[in-house]
Formats: sequence, C-alpha cells, structure tokens
Amino acid sequence: MAVVRLENASKLYKSEDKRDKRKHYAVRELNLTVEQGEFVFLIGSSGAGKSTMLKLIGGELSPDEGSVYVDDMNVSRLFGPWRARLARTFGIVSQQTLLIRKRTIMENLMVAGRASGMQRKSKAAAEKALGLVGLPTVGDCYPAQLSIGEVRRVELARAMLSSPPILLLDELTANLDDDNIWDMMHLLNELNSRGTTIIMATHASQYVNIMRRRVVTLVDGKLAGDVKNGRYGDIV
Ligand code: ADP
Ligand code: MG
Repeated sequence: MAVVRLENASKLYKSEDKRDKRKHYAVRELNLTVEQGEFVFLIGSSGAGKSTMLKLIGGELSPDEGSVYVDDMNVSRLFGPWRARLARTFGIVSQQTLLIRKRTIMENLMVAGRASGMQRKSKAAAEKALGLVGLPTVGDCYPAQLSIGEVRRVELARAMLSSPPILLLDELTANLDDDNIWDMMHLLNELNSRGTTIIMATHASQYVNIMRRRVVTLVDGKLAGDVKNGRYGDIV
C-alpha cells in the first residue's frame, strides 16, 4: 500500500544551448496526490514534463524545489535499506527499453529480479510475471525475436517481478497498433482491478477517452488539468 504525494515539486535543467547559462523548469510546482489503487493517465505534448514527473515519483530524480513523498517518507531523503524498500514500491517501464539485446527474455528477467533483491526465487517470479502478461512461452527468445507488442508486455512483466504496489509506465503504448494498445489497456485494467496503482504517460487519446479514468494534464511543465473520469484534453 502506498500513497504518492508531490508538494510544489520542481525540476530544473540547464538550457541545451551551451551559451545560455540560465536554468529552465522541466516541471514546475507540481502538486498531486495519488492514492493506492488509482489509475492515472498522464498526458501532455512532447516536452511537457511527463517523463520528468514519473522519474520524480519513482525517485530516479530528486526535486530541486519542493518534495515528493511515498506514504510519509520523503523520497529524496531515503538511503540504504529505505531506498531499497522504495525501489520495491515501484515497477518502472521507462521510455527507453531496459531489455538487454544479447540476453534471452528469461535471462533479462532474472538479471532484473536479482537486481531488485530476489535471489533463488527470481526464476519463479519471472515465470509468474510472463504468465500474467500472457507470454508464458517466450523465456528462451531474444528481444529481437519478439513483436513490439510482445516486447512491451515483457517490459511490463519485468516491472512487475516483485509485485510492486505502483506501476510507473512511460509511453508503454508508443508505436503499438490499435489491437496491441487495446490488449495492453485490458491487461492494465485487470492489474488495477487487483489493486495495483497505475500511473502512465500516454498519447493514446482514443483509449484514454474510452477508459474514463483520472486524467492529469501537463502543459509546459505545469499541471494544467486533473479530472476524475476524464477525457484526453480535459483541463480543469
Ligand atoms: P515529456 O516526457 O513530456 O516529453 P520530459 O519530461 O522528457 O517531457 O521533458 C520536459 C522538459 O525538460 C523538456 O523541455 C526537456 O527538454 C527537458 N529535459 C528533460 N530531461 C532533460 C535533461 N536531462 N537535460 C536537460 N533538459 C532536459
Ligand atoms: Mg517523455
């Protein structure tokens, strides 16, 4: 069980133009609470700050201003065993694939499982996670042998190895065709109905509109909308 809370959280970057010494806000003064079991679509155009926001929540980035809490723990002040506990709170699929090309799917999942502290149980956990995403037989394949839809589902399985209470998914539906997006949304709906919190950045507007879940919108790094049972583009 975990509640995520951002309080006036901002992240600053140096300008990509080297002559420009000023910093600019990737995200600015974000305030948001997500309760355990919620399903949140994070939307906004490219560069709006979606990935930065997910990284702040997952503790991959620390806010330059404001704070991020998981339950009552300040994420950027955690260290040692608390940090490891935080890592087990989140299952993360980032925008860039984390699968190693030269390893089979099973090897990939076992490497990830060991990294998250599972020792002997990692094979069983990998098999269970692959079953959950509907791909029980791909363990001996290499990533390049799978379709993009299958790769995405394997990435989801990788994120779910330690049964985290919260999934942070960055554009998991990018480059998928309609059938694959639909399958993915069904799968996420099912995980969510079993209690997993889902926070996902997506551009799949059609599906956001069908699912009618909470829609959080970022515009230029600022929170521009937060609507329950929302639609793509709702700004309230
Ligand atoms: P989105 O995921 O919505 O496309 P991002 O969170 O990736 O947006 O980026 C938000 C803003 O922060 C963009 O203007 C981007 O250029 C900037 N930004 C993100 N990461 C970095 C970085 N490592 N260095 C400099 N600027 C960055
Ligand atoms: Mg992004």
